[in-house]
Amino acid sequence: MRKPLVAGNWKMNGSSASNKLLLDAILAQRDSFASVDVALFPPALYIQQVQSALTGTGMHWGTQNVSQFDSGAYTGEISAAMLRDFSCQYVLIGHSERRCLYAELNLDQVFLDHIIAEKYEMSVKHGITPIICIGESPEEHSMGRTEEMVARLMDIVIAQQGVEMLSKVVLAYEPVWAIGTGKTASPEWAQDVHSFMRQRVAKHDANIAASLRILYGGSVKGNNAAPLFAKPDIDGGLIGGGSRDADEFVQICQAAV
Ligand code: PEP
Repeated sequence: MRKPLVAGNWKMNGSSASNKLLLDAILAQRDSFASVDVALFPPALYIQQVQSALTGTGMHWGTQNVSQFDSGAYTGEISAAMLRDFSCQYVLIGHSERRCLYAELNLDQVFLDHIIAEKYEMSVKHGITPIICIGESPEEHSMGRTEEMVARLMDIVIAQQGVEMLSKVVLAYEPVWAIGTGKTASPEWAQDVHSFMRQRVAKHDANIAASLRILYGGSVKGNNAAPLFAKPDIDGGLIGGGSRDADEFVQICQAAV
């Protein structure tokens, strides 16, 4: 069956000293969630620090973004081959903070979905599992357009790379209205969207749909993770704020056991 995955997105937080404290505290309790896949996503500068701390622990690491290009004149970008160099197993792709806060906002959103699909292809080519973030904005949510928005990116990814490639990815349903707001989606709401996503894949390939991990992300904390993770189509979480507090993050990981 599907192995739960908890991914901790540190965003632009941390320092060498605070990361060390956090990593030591999480690792001290690793035995209590050993059956769960756990991946940490520090700012890229700290990848080596995280790699050194986590090598041999069964935990994983990756970055918060990747370029869709192989190499070349792309100032400030990081390639999938570089991630491989640091033994990254996962990468986040299409996070809403990339879409909303940077130049990516100026791009046509459908065009952006195509770029996300290219980044996904590049990651898979280098043996890195992309976690593709998908979710509706607050406006789209209030207009009842959740399924339409989720389906748009999924359909582009399937059309561009074929459904077979979905056997090499993780999807994360991340409603933008829930990210960093404290407004967690109810387990019932999240389950309905996850089930819609799985069915969308099942139309193409039932086996791939059955093995596809779909995470929920958006204000998951130690005290609300268990009922979310108990839902049949929720296979773990993508955690932002809650991943920089060791006790909170460990509690979330334990809820996925
Ligand atoms: C995220 O950054 O992907 C996220 C879900 O953030 P938070 O948990 O803080 O809502």
